[in-house]
Order: sequence, then C-alpha cells, then structure tokens
Amino acid sequence: MISAMAIRGSRTLVGAALVLAALLLGAACRSGEQAAASKPATPAARPSILLVTLDTTRADAIGPDAGGIETPAFNALAARATRFRQAYASVPETLPSHVTMLTGVFPATHTVHENARPIPATTEVAAERLRKAGYRTAAFVSSFILARQFGLARGFDAYDDALPQGSVERAARETTDAAIAYLSRPATQPLFLWVHYFDPHYPYTPPEPYRSRFPGKPYLGEVAAMDAQLGRLVAAFEQGVTGPAAIIVVGDHGEGLGDHGEALHGNLAYQSTMHVPLLVVGPGVTPCVNDTPVSTRRVFHTLVDWAGAPEPLSLRHPVTEVVVGEAMKPFLEYGWQPQVMAVSGRHKSILAGRVEIYDVVADPAETRDLAADDRTRPAVPTALRDYPVPSPAASRLPENLDEHARKALASLGYVSATAAAEVRKGAPRPADMVRVFDAIEKASGLFVAGQYAAAIPLLEKILAADPFNLDAALRLATAHSALGRDAKALEMFKRAAEISPTSPDVRTYLALHLARTSQWEQAVPMLEKVLADSPDRVPALEAFARLKERLLRMEEAVALRQRVYALRSPTAAELTELGELQMGLGQTGPAIDAFERSKALAPDRFGDDFELGLLYLDARRYADARDALDRVGPTHPEYPMALFKRAQVSVLLNEPDRAARIQRARQHADATTRQLIERERLFQGMR
Ligand SMILES: [Zn+2]
Repeated sequence: MISAMAIRGSRTLVGAALVLAALLLGAACRSGEQAAASKPATPAARPSILLVTLDTTRADAIGPDAGGIETPAFNALAARATRFRQAYASVPETLPSHVTMLTGVFPATHTVHENARPIPATTEVAAERLRKAGYRTAAFVSSFILARQFGLARGFDAYDDALPQGSVERAARETTDAAIAYLSRPATQPLFLWVHYFDPHYPYTPPEPYRSRFPGKPYLGEVAAMDAQLGRLVAAFEQGVTGPAAIIVVGDHGEGLGDHGEALHGNLAYQSTMHVPLLVVGPGVTPCVNDTPVSTRRVFHTLVDWAGAPEPLSLRHPVTEVVVGEAMKPFLEYGWQPQVMAVSGRHKSILAGRVEIYDVVADPAETRDLAADDRTRPAVPTALRDYPVPSPAASRLPENLDEHARKALASLGYVSATAAAEVRKGAPRPADMVRVFDAIEKASGLFVAGQYAAAIPLLEKILAADPFNLDAALRLATAHSALGRDAKALEMFKRAAEISPTSPDVRTYLALHLARTSQWEQAVPMLEKVLADSPDRVPALEAFARLKERLLRMEEAVALRQRVYALRSPTAAELTELGELQMGLGQTGPAIDAFERSKALAPDRFGDDFELGLLYLDARRYADARDALDRVGPTHPEYPMALFKRAQVSVLLNEPDRAARIQRARQHADATTRQLIERERLFQGMR
C-alpha cells in the first residue's frame, strides 16, 4: 500500500495524474481542499444526509488501509470522500460518544460520560436542528444502549429502536432492511437519516459466509458483514432521495482486542478504542485523505452546516485544533485516576496519574512513551491539564432505571457501580489495573443477575488488587447479606465504611442489609436518614416500605410504595400487592386502579378477580362486579363468598336468574356465608 506520505511527496505530478491518484489511492487533501464549497448551502441545494455510525469499529479494521480484511463498500465511499485518518471519539463508550457526535459538545458540557445517563433537556441534538430546518428525520439503531429511553430519539420523526424478541441488539441486515423500507416512502423534503450498526460489538458472532472467511478473527468477520450492509444502505439511500446527497460514516469507538491488555473498550484511552474511522461525502467535498486530527464531535457541525447554517467547525472546513477525549469510567465507577487524552499534530498525550506521549503516526500501537525521556519529550497541550474532571456522585446510574434496563446493560458488559466511587489520592492508574478488567466486568454481570455466590470470588479478587475499591467492598457485603451470611456481611460493611466514612451508599446498603436481618428495627432510623438526604433513592424506599408493613403502619407503607412506582415501573405482582394493601385500608378507588393495572400488564397471570369483584361492588360498578365475580372458579378458596356476592350483584342488576343465583349461593355456602345469606336484606322475599 502506497502511503499518503509518499503521495504527498509527488506534488510535481500534473493535475490529471493527481486526480487519478486521488481516486485510486486517496491523495492527501491540500490546504482547504475538502472545503471547495465553503458557501452555505441554499435551501434548494441542501442535501439529504445519511449518517452511519459503526459501533466498536477500530480505525485499522475498515477502509483502504485496513489489514487482513477487505471492506469494499467503505472503500468505494472512501474513493469519493474526504477520509479523516486521525479521527477520535470523545469517549470509548457508545452512548456518550454518540451524544458528542449529535450535540457537537464534549462530555464536560453534555454531561453524559457513561451509558444510560440522561441527556439534559436543554442540550440541543442535531435532529432537532435539522427538523426545524425542514428536514424529515429518521433513525434506525441496533442496540439497547441507544434505545429511545436514553434520550437520542429527540428530534426524530421516526426512531426505530426495535430489537428482536429477547435480544439487546439487532443485526445490520435487519436494521438495513428497516431503513430501506423507510427510504421507499415518497417525500419532497430533504431527509436526515441516521443508521447505527452494532455488529462488531462483543460477542463476535458473524453470519456466514463471514464466519468461515475469518477463521479465528470473528471480530473482523463482523466488520466485513457490516460493510456489506453499508453497501446496500448507501445504494438505497442514493437511489431513494431526490436532490443532492451527503454521507458521513464514523465509528463511535474502537475495540481493545488485547492491545495494552484491554479486550473490549471503555477502560483505557489508547488508539485501539479512541481512534475511529471517519469519512465525509457530499456536495463540494473533494476526494482526499486528511491527516489533521479531528474530533467526531464535528459530525454535529457538519450536519448543521449542510442543513444551511454555516458552521466553521463543519468537517468541510480545515480546522487545526487540539483534539481531546476521555475514558472516565474507571474513575467514575471505581475511583481510579481520571483519564484524558489530547492529540496535537502527530502527538497524543494521555493523562491518568502521569502523562504518556506517543507519536501516533509513526507508532500507532503506542509502544514508545516519549514522555519517558525529558530531553526529547514533546510539549503537553494545556487542554490536557485543563480538562474538566466530572464528579462520580453526579454520574450515578439514574435511580429510576428499571431492572430490565440494568440487566440489559450488564449483559452488554456495561459495568455500573452500586456506589459513587471514593475519589482518592494515589488511586491506581487504569493502565496498571488491566489484570482485573475481566473480573470487574464478569462480577458486575453476575451481581446484577443475582448470582451472588459466583460473584464473590471475583469481587474478592478485585478488592485484593484494589483495596480501596468501594464498589467491590459494598457488593461483597451485599452478596454475603443476600446469601444470609450476616457476620461476613457486617465485616465487609465495616470495611466499606473504612474506605468511605461519609458515603451515603454505605449507609444505604448497610440499612438494606439490617432490614433483612433480625435487627431490622435498627434499619428504621437509618433509612429515615437516607431518605431525608436523597428522597428518590428507590432501594431505600422499597426497604422502608417493607419495614413499615412489618410495623403494621400500612398507610405509610402504601404511600412509600406509591413513591417507588412513580420513580420506576411496577411489576404486575407489585401492583397486586399494592391493591391488596389498599383494599385492606378501604381505599377502594386506588385499589381498583392497582388491580386493573396489574391485570393489564399480565392478563394471564391475574388471580385477583375475587378482590376486584368485591371492590367493584363497593364502588357500585355492578356490571364490572358481575364480570369479575363470574371469573372466580370453584377451586378458589373464597368461592362460597364469590357466589354470595354474585347473588347480591344479580339482585342489584335485577337479573332474571337472581333467585337461582341465591339458591346456588345457599347450596355452596360455608359457615360464614350461610349466616350472611340468611341475614341479607336484598334476598328477602326472593325465595
Ligand atoms: Zn459503541
């Protein structure tokens, strides 16, 4: 492969030869060349735009320079694109990286440093801008991480996040089929179409023929399979839209694949995960390769610029800047050193406790740390030291995230701690902790799945490697507590309290533990304090509700449960329990509401028609009472009572068979209902 450096040296070639070289090989962009059309697009000339984001795609795994893989669809685009060979993600994690691309600002501004964190309502996303500018907007995403609930659906007329039943991801073929179906709809407005492919994300399971074509390299097989779908999508897009068309293809982050000891992504800030593919095709874009470092946040500015609002940060314009990025998960989740990077020219600096510097052009594998030698050390950009460090407490997983979402995130390998990490001097550097990455990911998955016995040895390993890891200590304590090992649990809670004497998480989880033991009454004042400090703490509210039930403070228990269910969706079983508690308190209307919601959620499992019948009768909803009581079968323990109540309803509804119903209630009466039937005024004179 002839490098761009070699081509750059051949400027003496005549123009025609240069164009040919550009088409065949991707010549270096001359200054300002990718910005041949620097005027703002007029409304008539505004292109329809296809944005394709490639999840988990390393820069060296796709395109003309990739080794060990052919990606013809990407390469065909590259031949007519400005291809950025030094493009960087802002965060090596899916949601934050996409939020940066679609808002144009860095995580310090949009505040999404990790998956599953909310995008502030005041932060504008590209789709909102383009819709306001008269675009149709549609998105097709392929992972639960980008599901509508996580906030990127804003501004899209259509947001297709449908996943196959029971799955947390969708294959590129299916996502492409859905996008192509959308493209066949007739329309006159320009279109902004975002398609997200997730295939190269772990686990690597390429479809045939790619599985066989890449023996032992299933990751590359996934990239190749995705590339084929990219080709279908681009062809359908260019045929499907009227008027000019523009295309951006960009990676959200790479994959470690063992580089620097990292298998997946998110914990380190090396090229394997920060360096991503990026190309731009569109009106006035010259085919060339650009080696200036760029941040993928400029995707936003490019979209807005194409839509008619001139943006100096559009990728159509040459901009020289220090490109920054972060990998804060180890800091936010385990309290390790905050980790940021800055790329200036060919030099990349990483700050995590100390500074490393690499020449990423000559040494893309980052094997020679130039910071080690004072005499030759390149200057470190001030942007590195000035990078704002977020707060672990502010980046907690939202309390209202439901169990399904927590489990889905864990199944995708996304760790989230039970506790806000303790920020500490002398904390480990993430790069020095690679030996426990695997244990952390596995332990988190097992813990969230409730497999505590299997999680314990892994958590012990983590705590041995990182003795001040609050999350590991608290999870160990909680795992022992769940297994009924109270002494072990208390020992670990003590350890957690030593790590973080002021942590509200330690107090919360200790209270939750005590609430499960014979000393549960000690938990009452502790939970009161926790909830005074953070009233929306769902696990504390749940535990407090259970304690109030044990104390027979039923009204308070019901009120607490209602607060919980306002913060997260209740299950059908929980709604049934709530309905029973409310029924016991004589809260007829709310009890009916709870039972009806339970029944709507799981009609096949609903077993409280008897209770519902009584409540309807109480609320004088006789027809509803009739239907509910008719569903109570002869095996129900309250069947005699159901027949008695049904006879009452029959009289109240003046049914023709009311006398027969009273007779039937008599025949099946037990000691209780026999007396009730004899005394029932409604039945008098009905013999
Ligand atoms: Zn991703």
